[in-house]
Amino acid sequence: RWSRVKGRLRTSVGEDVYTSWFARMDLEGVQDESVHLSVPTRFLKSWIQAHYADRVLTCWQAEMPEVHRIDLTVRTAMRCAAPAKETTAPADQRRIEQANGRPAPELRATATAPVSASHDALGGSPLDPRLTFASFVIGRSNTLAHAAARQVAEGRRGDPVMFNPLYIHAGVGLGKTHLLQAVTWAGNSGSERKVLYLTAEKFMYGFVAALKTQTALAFKEALRGIDVLVIDDLQFLQGKSTQAEFCHTLNALIDAGRQVVIAADRPPSDLESLDDRVRSRLAGGLVVEMGSLGEELRLGILKSRVAAARAHHASFDVPEAVLDYLARTITHNGRDLEGAINRLLAHSKLNAQPVTLEMAEREVRDLIRPQEPKRIKIEDIQRVVARQYNVSRSDLLSSRRTANVVRPRQVAMYLAKTLTLRSLPEIGRRFGGRDHTTVLHAVRKIEALVARDTALSEEVESLKRQLQE
Ligand code: ADP
Ligand code: MG
Repeated sequence: RWSRVKGRLRTSVGEDVYTSWFARMDLEGVQDESVHLSVPTRFLKSWIQAHYADRVLTCWQAEMPEVHRIDLTVRTAMRCAAPAKETTAPADQRRIEQANGRPAPELRATATAPVSASHDALGGSPLDPRLTFASFVIGRSNTLAHAAARQVAEGRRGDPVMFNPLYIHAGVGLGKTHLLQAVTWAGNSGSERKVLYLTAEKFMYGFVAALKTQTALAFKEALRGIDVLVIDDLQFLQGKSTQAEFCHTLNALIDAGRQVVIAADRPPSDLESLDDRVRSRLAGGLVVEMGSLGEELRLGILKSRVAAARAHHASFDVPEAVLDYLARTITHNGRDLEGAINRLLAHSKLNAQPVTLEMAEREVRDLIRPQEPKRIKIEDIQRVVARQYNVSRSDLLSSRRTANVVRPRQVAMYLAKTLTLRSLPEIGRRFGGRDHTTVLHAVRKIEALVARDTALSEEVESLKRQLQE
């Protein structure tokens, strides 16, 4: 009966709509006048209720006239179901397939499905023509990220995929977008591959818009027909249904041997709102951090910016001494470096004056900020505390409750709370999967002890100093 109802529904709404909305709807049971149905996401539920409630009821009544009510519920917390092949092909085998450049056979079908018609529906995010490999300056903090990005950009269709996904993380203004757009430009010029650059927000809106116009299927197909998918600012990916969709896309692409490149402002383990499986999938490729811009790199970026400006304003010149001054004093990020050069350019144009040190000092005063405090990691805290108290890091994460482990563990949790921006649940998770109340208890305990126990207070201060060095 259920399959007959589904058949009616399919005829009534059409194949596309049916697949987008009803394919994952299950029958939970029928009782008297009510039918209980379930779907995997809240989003699907509200959409079906808003747009298709009557249609569903009519289809049921055609089969069972006594039905007068449809109850629609969300099955479980949304998880990105692992693709079916994972049950038959363990991760190792997939890696071997990847190394051979052979996509998994059942996904090859998806990959070669006609996508051109729907591809237009999937505009990428705008690209800045200046953000190319040619203008990207290589320094100590980004050598590895740059090399990996280059490798990805130079690959050709069918080449073995070496690291998937390539996941680059760094703080604001350290060159993530620059590198990702460089990959996109390089990939799209002179090769037959389709490289798509999307911000996570664009991915989200694209998906939601596709759902609204009932072209979700086309959206998905188009995404899966991409050779290299580049996603910027993944930390902004929000909402269960888009995350689930992202997860499916990620799995499908990776399993089909397509390249995925991702940038975010933090490592996968710190993307707190993401599902565990997505997180581990993200961490399963190559994760590279780009550190802060060293002085040499800053100088290089300034020079490259000046050179770019001179292409249009030949008379613009910045003396070496000014560049040195800027590289030494603007330590924050690449955006401020770019801003400084723009200001000098504007000022020297408007006033028809050459750039001098005095002018630079005046113009960029507000960009000069004190040295940013070091970003401290929970792992570092655990390492330093373990060393101090002569226990192992795994002791700290273990469930052992002996006094020589309990106190160091509490100190480490306290430091994690006070020196990082991590939430209590996140800290708990990083300490061997403890509850947030345990972390809170530890924090309060140490706070109280530090207030009256000078020996401990000094220990804690010394640990803080070690970590800040
Ligand atoms: P993010 O996306 O990490 O916040 P961006 O890629 O937007 O940072 O970089 C900010 C600015 O700094 C841009 O103008 C970018 O061109 C410049 N920049 C950052 N790193 C580099 C680099 N290694 N070489 C050249 N320019 C850089
Ligand atoms: Mg960016």
